Amino acid sequence: MGVDFIYPEFEVIRNESRCIACRVCERQCSNEVHAWSERRGVMMSDESRCVNCQRCVSLCPTRALKIVRSDCRLRENANWTDATIKEVYKQAGSGGVLLSSMGNPNPLPVYWDRILINASQVTNPPIDPLREPMETRVSLGKRPQRIERDDEGGIICDLQPQIELSMPVMFSAMSYGSISYNAHASLARAATELGIMYNTGEGGLHEDFYAYGPHTIVQVASGRFGVHEDFLNAGAAIEIKMGQGAKPGIGGHLPGAKIVGDISRTRMIPEGSDAISPAPHHDIYSIEDLRQLVFSLKEATSYRKPVIVKVAAVHNIAAIASGIARSGADIIAIDGFRGGTGAAPTRIRDNVGIPIELALASVDQRLRDEGIRNDVSIVCGGSIRSASDVVKAIALGADACYVATAALLALGCHLCRTCHTGKCNWGIATQRPDLVKRLNPEIGSERLVNLMNAWRHEIKELIGGMGINSIEALKGNRLMLRGVGLTEKELSILGINHAGE
Ligand code: SF4
Ligand code: SF4
Repeated sequence: MGVDFIYPEFEVIRNESRCIACRVCERQCSNEVHAWSERRGVMMSDESRCVNCQRCVSLCPTRALKIVRSDCRLRENANWTDATIKEVYKQAGSGGVLLSSMGNPNPLPVYWDRILINASQVTNPPIDPLREPMETRVSLGKRPQRIERDDEGGIICDLQPQIELSMPVMFSAMSYGSISYNAHASLARAATELGIMYNTGEGGLHEDFYAYGPHTIVQVASGRFGVHEDFLNAGAAIEIKMGQGAKPGIGGHLPGAKIVGDISRTRMIPEGSDAISPAPHHDIYSIEDLRQLVFSLKEATSYRKPVIVKVAAVHNIAAIASGIARSGADIIAIDGFRGGTGAAPTRIRDNVGIPIELALASVDQRLRDEGIRNDVSIVCGGSIRSASDVVKAIALGADACYVATAALLALGCHLCRTCHTGKCNWGIATQRPDLVKRLNPEIGSERLVNLMNAWRHEIKELIGGMGINSIEALKGNRLMLRGVGLTEKELSILGINHAGE
C-alpha cells in the first residue's frame, strides 16, 4: 500500500458551461494536472498533482477554473491532525526526509502583529512627508565610537567601508540555481534602480550580472561555489553565510539535475553533480577562525568592502552576535525562523530557530550593553512582510531589513511552497527554459521597484506620524513601540512597554 490512497489536498473545480476547451490550462501546468480527453471530449484533471499555484486559474481566459482545498479529511483529532497522519503515510511510503519550501507556516506568535507603533498628537506634532523632507537613506558598516577632531578642529573622517541604501531594505540571498536567471535579472535591475542591494546567495555571480556590482552583495557560503577574486571584488559587500533562518544547523543541497549549463559554470562545478554546502564551514570552529575568514576576504578586496556575517536566529543569538562583532565583521545579518527557502527538511523548517523579533531585540541590547553596538550594523530578515514590519524592526534596533518572500511575491510567486520540485509555474524557482521565460525581467523589476517605492512612502508616513523625520532617529527607539497581549517576559526581551503604559 503506497501513498496513492490519500485523497488529494486540492480539488480542481471546472465550470463546464464556461470551459471552451482552449487547453491553456494544460499548457500552463508544469505538474500535468490538466489533459484533454479525446474519448469524453472534455478537459480532465489529475488533482493528485495539483499544488495550488493558481497559474491555470489566473490564465484561464473564461474564468472557468478554481482550486479549492479538499474537505475530505482523515479522522483527525487535536493530536493526530490530518496533515500529521499524511506525513507518516508519506514517510512510510518513501523512507525519506520530508522536504518543503518557503518559511515555517505554523501558527507560532508573529510578534510584529503584537507590536503597535506610536503617533504624535498635541505636542511634538507629526511631520507631513508630502510637505517636509524625510530621510530614508541609511549606511551600513562600522561607525566611530566618538567624534574626533584634528589640531585645526576639523572632523577626522576615516570611516571603514560602508554600503549605502536609499531606504533601509535589501533583497536577501537567493542563489542563481535556486531561482531562475530571469528572477535574478529582475532583482539586480530593481536594486540598481532603487539604490539598494540584492544578494547573489551561494551560487556565484553569472557574468551578465557583473554590471550590477555596485548594488550586489556577493555571498561566500560553506560550499564556496563560484567564489574567486573577481567575484569578491565585483560586489559592494561580501556576506559570509554561517546559517539561514529556514534551516538553522544544516547546509544546502541543490540537486545535480539543476546543475546544468550556466549554473554549473557559475558555480564552478561539473554538470550533473550535486551542489552540497556542508552544515559547517570546514575551516570555522571558533570566532578566531571566523575572524581569519573575515580578514582573508578583506585582504582579497584590499579592505574596500564591508563584510557581513549572516547567521540564523537561534537560542543563544545574543552571545553569537557579540562574538561576530568582535571578529572584525562590519555587519551582522540575522535570519529568523520564518525565513523562506528553496528547499529545507520540513522538520527543521518547522521546529528549529527562534522568531526574528526576539532575536533582534536581544542582539541589539547585548551589543549596547557591551558598548560595541557601533562596531557593527544589524540587518534583520526572516519574514519582513510590509513597511510596518520594517519600521518596527528599525525601532527594535535593526539598521536595515532583508526581504525575500515579499520580493518573490512581487515577481508573481503564489506561495505554493513547492520550489524544491523545480517546476515553478511562475518562472521563479525553476531552471526549465519553458518556465523561466514566463517571467519577464523588465516587468519583474518594474514590479519590485513599485513595491519598494510603495513601502518607502508608507515608511515616511509611519515615521512622520511619530514626529520623526529620519530612519537614523528611529533606530533602536523602542519608546515608539507598545506590545499587546504579550507576557512580562516577552515584553522584557523586546524591551518595550505594554500598550496603555
Ligand atoms: S498545479 Fe497550478 S497550474 Fe496546475 S492545476 Fe494546480 S493550480 Fe493549476
Ligand atoms: S517561487 Fe514558485 S514554486 Fe516557489 S512558492 Fe513561489 S510560486 Fe511556488
